[in-house]
Amino acid sequence: MTKFTDLNLNPKVLKAVVEAGYETPTPIQAGAIPPALDGRDVLGIAQTGTGKTASFVLPMITLLARGRARARMPRSLVLCPTRELAAQVAENFDTYTKYLKLTKALLIGGVSFKEQDTLIDKGVDVLIATPGRLLDHFERGKLILSDVKVMVVDEADRMLDMGFIPDIERIFGLTPFTRQTLFFSATMAPEIERITNTFLSNPERIEVARQATASETIEQGVVMFKVSRRDKEASEKRAVLRKLIDGEGDACTNAIIFCNRKTDVDIVAKSLKKYGYDAAPIHGDLDQSQRTRTLDGFRNGELRFLVASDVAARGLDVPSVSHVFNFDVPSHAEDYVHRIGRTGRAGRAGKAMMICAPRDEKNFDAIERLIQREIPRLDNPLGSPEPAPADMEDSAEKPKRARRTRGRKDSPETQAPATPTEVTTEPPVEAQIETPVAEAAAVRDVAPEPAPERRQQDDTRQNRGGANRRGGKGRNDNTPVGMGDHMPGFIAMSFDERRTD
Ligand code: AMP
Repeated sequence: MTKFTDLNLNPKVLKAVVEAGYETPTPIQAGAIPPALDGRDVLGIAQTGTGKTASFVLPMITLLARGRARARMPRSLVLCPTRELAAQVAENFDTYTKYLKLTKALLIGGVSFKEQDTLIDKGVDVLIATPGRLLDHFERGKLILSDVKVMVVDEADRMLDMGFIPDIERIFGLTPFTRQTLFFSATMAPEIERITNTFLSNPERIEVARQATASETIEQGVVMFKVSRRDKEASEKRAVLRKLIDGEGDACTNAIIFCNRKTDVDIVAKSLKKYGYDAAPIHGDLDQSQRTRTLDGFRNGELRFLVASDVAARGLDVPSVSHVFNFDVPSHAEDYVHRIGRTGRAGRAGKAMMICAPRDEKNFDAIERLIQREIPRLDNPLGSPEPAPADMEDSAEKPKRARRTRGRKDSPETQAPATPTEVTTEPPVEAQIETPVAEAAAVRDVAPEPAPERRQQDDTRQNRGGANRRGGKGRNDNTPVGMGDHMPGFIAMSFDERRTD
């Protein structure tokens, strides 16, 4: 078996690796480090969790250990699809360069340009960036890419999903033709194949086992969820989620809850919080400081439930996540593998549970085909659905639906966060466990304020009946109400005259 000492790494890098507690290189490390140190291009087909970050950082810093960076001319470039992933690579870089004098800058959105400019001006050995931010700096004339010796593209398949491929192609074109390229992707979609054929030169190709086959330590389950009433699907799903969490008791030390849409990330997090669960959302629309705070809290155990979108959670390295809950079935089967791979890491036990609504069954089938196994069916913890009686809850729900259809544009990644009112709306099945706050909200909604147009209608109806207190052109008869038997005659006369005008 290959040992780190067999890999020709710089002794100072080796020392840092030993201190990080690694004993043997992972397959992607054993496969990628030797050709990378020989200056060859590498095409690594590996997912997060396989040790791929060290497989490019270790040879890169060994190669950079000699030489110095010049102002505004970074010597290497690492491109990552998300800020979180870029920040994680930067952390890895700090760990492994502990005994080397190498400098780095992290170019991600949400950090001031000024701070980043100062670092670049001084000269950096490693630039870790998201593609958009890197190009922003370049266009401002603050960055020269003609001295880049090593360029890394990490999680290329995610770059493709996020529409970054044109940016990547442009960045390739801005770096010298002679650069060395280390390119990583979990899958080889045709578009990725095309890029690698264009920009990599005779790469060493290393493919490591898919996480799907490595996820034997993860116990999986799915609730084939049938809603009792269509208009209550979302809130019943939230009730199922709570029951699943509760059913795990203390075994659920912490969990990531995945939703397909940012709006649902917000709604589920708010709803869980309302029910007393320690939960916070993370997705791309939240500002960077909030995302960092939430992630740090989750990593160090202060936060128990992280409600996340796929993009935000991509590549997150939290070593001990006991559970993953898929609130939705992901629409790409690959994402299921990424999601459940957040638990059961490093040989630990993990549990992944999913809620599958009837409309998601096609996507669910694709997942079972991909992982080549049947996911055990779990009983719906709410029991089998029964039609709800047309009770007070019904009238509580109706005004809200009317509001929703009027103002919302529902497109998966662009929806506005839900209003708190929507979150407090819960289905009949939850009525037994409603909190006092939610109850109050529900009662408020049973007797809603009439909407302005409704008020208008009521007035018109009164007018038709001739009961117009204020008078006006809409009247059909001239019998005013509210005057009793003592109406002065001139009131009726003056109206009649105006009506004939
Ligand atoms: P990555 O795939 O780069 O996200 O790495 C996943 C996890 O594996 C991280 O927590 C690394 O710190 C850890 N790791 C990387 N290389 C090794 C190794 N050779 N031995 C043990 N753990 C490792």
